[in-house]
Amino acid sequence: MLRIWFGSPLWKRVLLAMVCGIIAGVVLGEDAESVRWIGDLFIRAIKMLVIPLIFFSLVSGMTAVGDLRRLGNVGGKALLLFMSTAFISVTLGMTLATLVQPGVGLSIDLPVGTAVPPAPDQSLIGMVISLVPENPVMAMAEGAVLPVIVFAVLFGIAILASGEEGTPIAQAMNAGSIVMQNMTIFVMELAPFGVFALIAWVTGTFGFEALIPLSKLVALNYVGCAIILAIVYPLILRLIARLPVIDFYRGIIDAQAVAFSTASSNAALPVTLRCVERNLGVSHSVASFTVALGATINMNGTAMYLGVIALFGAQVYGIELSWLSYVMIILTSTLGAIGAAGVPGSGLIIMSLVLSSIGVPLETIAFVAGINHILDMARTMTNVSGDAAVAVAVGRMSGEIDVEEYVSADDV
Ligand code: ASP
Repeated sequence: MLRIWFGSPLWKRVLLAMVCGIIAGVVLGEDAESVRWIGDLFIRAIKMLVIPLIFFSLVSGMTAVGDLRRLGNVGGKALLLFMSTAFISVTLGMTLATLVQPGVGLSIDLPVGTAVPPAPDQSLIGMVISLVPENPVMAMAEGAVLPVIVFAVLFGIAILASGEEGTPIAQAMNAGSIVMQNMTIFVMELAPFGVFALIAWVTGTFGFEALIPLSKLVALNYVGCAIILAIVYPLILRLIARLPVIDFYRGIIDAQAVAFSTASSNAALPVTLRCVERNLGVSHSVASFTVALGATINMNGTAMYLGVIALFGAQVYGIELSWLSYVMIILTSTLGAIGAAGVPGSGLIIMSLVLSSIGVPLETIAFVAGINHILDMARTMTNVSGDAAVAVAVGRMSGEIDVEEYVSADDV
């Protein structure tokens, strides 16, 4: 029995766990709350890896690129792809919301006592300033991923600029990243149990009744994610990377399963990294750099949904949007998706930035908060798949991908 369990690839075990989780959720109903702790344990274990993994992966990826010019080249390509896919995703979200009009005819009657989110307490300039950590150790301790990334990028550049003298620290960073990846392998053995518990909990406790009044919004979130997964990423893979799409999705199934069940890009990061490197054959330098960066700043599912929500709120309140408002939505949704942390529910928090920029009341957020988790799962899976697609494209453009490994996409 044990031999069959450990002998089968992780993604098969995770898929089995998902199916069993749905069945358990339906059978147990609200009682499924009682297994949630197993899922929480899994998420905690995986979150434990995130800060050291991001730091070691980014720095070791950067130093493995070799020199500053090449680094600029790889980083530039990754950023360009992150930005253009975010732009396409927001535009897609706005187009879908214009066609389907999910907010027309709805009125917002918040139950008494519902907390309306406060207006964003930071200006855009304030957000930019807070990217630079006053104290990198404190940023790590607080789990503030963006400031840690800023520090890691500067640290990596400084190592490269130090030449020979920086080599020992570059080797130490590389060793740190290998150790963290091995630690990921241990933690991932918990995945089937964690995924089972999380899916059972979601299925058992989120009543379908809550979804009915907002069914158009739910459908738009899922259809938008499906379009990004089925059209936008395949276009990147076919046109830029010139590689088959099926092998890509076969290679990242573990990462998608973890992203879907945890609704956290950060939680999925260790697995995404492993899938991109081991299954898709992207070199260590490009994979660690692109995926570690992408998990935080590349969120296409979230960007698409922010576009949808902005129009949804305007439709509910009957607010006419000028062309300037559309430009603001594109701008703030893209920035919001960059700024959103890779944790469950972060898209909901960042919505205030988008809505307040076009004068839509923030009550909209409280209105959709109840169904957010179900939507977040699909968005996170889309976000994580985008990180992998960009890593493959950048790997291919820079000649840093083992195509044979990619097409064989063996099980993890
Ligand atoms: N939870 C998502 C993520 O971690 C972000 C979101 O809420 O849309 O990628």
